[in-house]
Amino acid sequence: MALIGIDLGTTNSLVAVWEDGHPSLLKNSLGSVLTPSVISINDDGNILAGEVAKQRLVSHPGLTVSEFKRTMGTDYIYHLGSRQYRSEELSAFLLKKMISDAEEQLGTPVTEAVISVPAYFDDNQREATKLAARIAGVEVKRLINEPSAAILYRQWKMRDIEAEPDGIYIVVDFGGGTLDISIVDCFENIIEIVAVSGDNKLGGKDFDKAVALDFCERNNLSFEALDNNTKHNLLWCAEEVKRSLSDSSTASMRVNIHGTIYEHVYTEGELLDACAKVLGKIKSIINNAVNGAKISVDEIMDVVLVGGSCKMPIVQKYISALFKRNVTADDDIDNYVGYGTGVLTGIIRRDGYIRDIVMTDVCPFSLGVGTRMNDSSPEYMSVIIPKNSILPISKSATYAGLTPFQKRLGFKIYQGEEMLANANLLLDSFGIDVIPDANGDTAVEVTFTYDINGLLEVSARDLNGPLTFEKNILSKSSQLSESEIAGKRAYMNNNMHLEKDKEENRRIMAWAQRLHAQADTEDKVRVISIIKDFSTALENNNPAQIARTRKRVSQQLLCMDLIINHHNFDDEDIIRKLQADIAKEQAEYADE
Ligand code: ADP
Ligand code: MG
Repeated sequence: MALIGIDLGTTNSLVAVWEDGHPSLLKNSLGSVLTPSVISINDDGNILAGEVAKQRLVSHPGLTVSEFKRTMGTDYIYHLGSRQYRSEELSAFLLKKMISDAEEQLGTPVTEAVISVPAYFDDNQREATKLAARIAGVEVKRLINEPSAAILYRQWKMRDIEAEPDGIYIVVDFGGGTLDISIVDCFENIIEIVAVSGDNKLGGKDFDKAVALDFCERNNLSFEALDNNTKHNLLWCAEEVKRSLSDSSTASMRVNIHGTIYEHVYTEGELLDACAKVLGKIKSIINNAVNGAKISVDEIMDVVLVGGSCKMPIVQKYISALFKRNVTADDDIDNYVGYGTGVLTGIIRRDGYIRDIVMTDVCPFSLGVGTRMNDSSPEYMSVIIPKNSILPISKSATYAGLTPFQKRLGFKIYQGEEMLANANLLLDSFGIDVIPDANGDTAVEVTFTYDINGLLEVSARDLNGPLTFEKNILSKSSQLSESEIAGKRAYMNNNMHLEKDKEENRRIMAWAQRLHAQADTEDKVRVISIIKDFSTALENNNPAQIARTRKRVSQQLLCMDLIINHHNFDDEDIIRKLQADIAKEQAEYADE
């Protein structure tokens, strides 16, 4: 029975465990520590998750979905072909895939998990994450805020290197779909999250979109007028160019749109111009966090960069300019949160010195109820738990009725910082029966308890009477019954086939289909011949032959990928080398 840590990312997800006194990342069935957070349905209704699904974003956009974490805890419905899913179901499929891969690696069933969530996730989003885990069949031991996980890992890493890691840090976690800023006070063994701020609709995808739009503008194309497949292809190519520019000074973007090749060689300066608006949004979010913590920038000991988008030199330069100091990133920054969940599993297991680390977290927003002065006044936000209170916390407030002989008091529960209640997020509502009083002197005490997982519990009682009312605030999504959850689990188990060896074959097929969708006519013919070659090997059902063909076909596809989507001038050399290797392999193959 194992406990694992999961970074359930918008773009990529990771699994970590605590082993032999340190956190380690587990590889998925394709040998990678990053599992793309993408789900696709194939023609037979089978659910595909991870890398195979990601390849299908370009070839089968109508059957494939990414970034579903952005709608966690909402009623948004995704249509994949004729099927419909909510974000927590799609997340459950992804979790199932990662758990199954982890079980394969560990050789033992995984029954418990800690899962990281953005600090800004509200109550509904946290409940939805727990629901996803229940559908996937694991118990959530703890939810941890992503920046807290990152700092936990950093602190663990620094223990052996730095003598004095105490001080105030700012964690900038910039992933594919979210930007989370946290101000963290580290003192001895206590990690206190002092303030958080963020935007859960800003991330690497926005850079991809900015580059795709810029590319269209340079080539007199209208992005919006393009068909879905072409849009996805452009976004795919834009992301590749963006990533290439993290390692080299120029990168070429080459896209085949209905038989015409469009091309532009990007420089870092042009990337910066295309992405200026996206970068500009970072500033106010960082300012919010610094103001929320009531500190000055000079008090910050270090800026910790986390998440794949912080690998971009333009992001590092922009943040360095904001903080007026040189900010750099480690190579493994997109793994920090994942590793942090692994450290937390070590703390939960109370393993060695790691158990001495205590971590406190804060409530990232205010929680309260709406109140009125009289029947015609607007509803104002009455805060019960203020933003940035240290968790866990339990607080009460007393509310009076508005009229004599009132029999019932109604409450709406809100989350947010706006003065007018309905400008905040409505979490739920409830009513409580009270003993009617001629003078209208009713008094109801409302108690909010916010736990370390960031989940809210509400209770209320009539101070003048014996009537009590207790309620756990449950979001709509978590009101599924056990049998409904079991039904969703059964559907998932019947439609996900996670045999490891077949996964490699599926990846090859999905990769070939993606290249086919991207290629021009001549290259399409070459891709089809590669697919035929591989299909024949699969039909013969000889494992040794399949493995051998897979190796050869992989090299051919890599070569085709570089020819179709080349970015750097170095790629030309790689193509030549690959072509020579393939020719050699083919000669050997023919000799047999
Ligand atoms: P998330 O937390 O959203 O799951 P990650 O931290 O894995 O995401 O970051 C994913 C984002 O980082 C993607 O938008 C991806 O394009 C971007 N990214 C990853 N590596 C690089 C790189 N070397 N250069 C630029 N962007 C990168
Ligand atoms: Mg992340």
